[in-house]
Amino acid sequence: MKSCPVCNKPVIGRTDKKYCSDLCRNSHNNDSLIEIRSKVNQVHTILRRNRRILEELIGLNIRKVSKEKLLRQGLNFYYVTSFEYDKDRNFRYMCYEYGYYAVGNDCYKLVKQVDNKRH
Ligand SMILES: [Zn+2]
Repeated sequence: MKSCPVCNKPVIGRTDKKYCSDLCRNSHNNDSLIEIRSKVNQVHTILRRNRRILEELIGLNIRKVSKEKLLRQGLNFYYVTSFEYDKDRNFRYMCYEYGYYAVGNDCYKLVKQVDNKRH
């Protein structure tokens, strides 16, 4: 006899039935959604923080920065939104419209993507 993964009551009915009732099925699906949302939010929080760090440094007109400083600011190098090559073939790690690329000696150049549509 299978038991309901939500309430542990026996599941009676068709063999492919997973939950004891519609209530439990809905409740399980809602839990999964909450779980998914929370994972998405965790990633989004990191990406937003990365973006804010780059935005602030560029706002201070800092264009070249050590990896150590970026780490100290809290930049998480594992989270980016895309990669791209710029016209000089620098491999850029992008975080929304901000990005950085390695320039040797554990340093990075910071860039802001220009919105082509406005020019
Ligand atoms: Zn149940």
